[in-house]
Amino acid sequence: MRQLIAGNWKMHGLSAALSEIETVAETAVASAPNADILICPPATLVSRAAQAAAGRIAIGGQDCHPEPQGAFTGDISAEMLRDAGASAVIVGHSERRQYYGEDSALVAAKARAAWRAGLLAIICIGETESQRNLGDHLNVCASQLTDSVPQEARVANTAIAYEPVWAIGTGKTATPDDIAAMHAHIRECLVGRVGEQARGIRILYGGSVKPGNAREILRTPEVGGALVGGASLSAPEFQAIFSEASP
Ligand code: PEP
Repeated sequence: MRQLIAGNWKMHGLSAALSEIETVAETAVASAPNADILICPPATLVSRAAQAAAGRIAIGGQDCHPEPQGAFTGDISAEMLRDAGASAVIVGHSERRQYYGEDSALVAAKARAAWRAGLLAIICIGETESQRNLGDHLNVCASQLTDSVPQEARVANTAIAYEPVWAIGTGKTATPDDIAAMHAHIRECLVGRVGEQARGIRILYGGSVKPGNAREILRTPEVGGALVGGASLSAPEFQAIFSEASP
């Protein structure tokens, strides 16, 4: 399984940041010949990012509307992302769930929209700190997965990102044992939901992945890659992470 190392720039990046994408694109194949590298910049940069990447790395969106077009002021469809040069889109990021009230049914509709447009859907799930403290984390992630991942999910069109909410942007990371246990649990839920072919679907870990912990995380069983926020904004930091992808 080729690991997928995806950068989520969130609401960061003006034109000047395109040079980071050029640098990443120049180094990706040599640093991580057996991994897929993706950067999801803000929508305003997708088109120019795709030009800067020149096919050497993939470019994605951070969200999409379920409909292909319509009277949805401010929204962007999966088709528009594809048209701008994206090949993937993140759906159901915890910041979307938390700040915009997105529920798992909407996330599933967005995943279907991604597939309709020919994009890889990176479907995010993850528990809050209080859910983990209560010991509910396995159940919470299982039900988010069941409700957010449509049964048509396949290896070629889907990746799952397990991102414990308490680890995003906090500098805290789940331990390798916790990551391995959760990813194994997600794998079994996924197989139960979409069948044996789900064994090939990549399950990414996200939450304060940094150059200093990337190797350990990317060598953890059932980790099919990483979703990286803050550390993906700087080309050298992101490169230090993806160069640790499994050979
Ligand atoms: C994210 O944005 O999905 C994320 C994991 O952020 P960070 O790496 O900054 O914790």
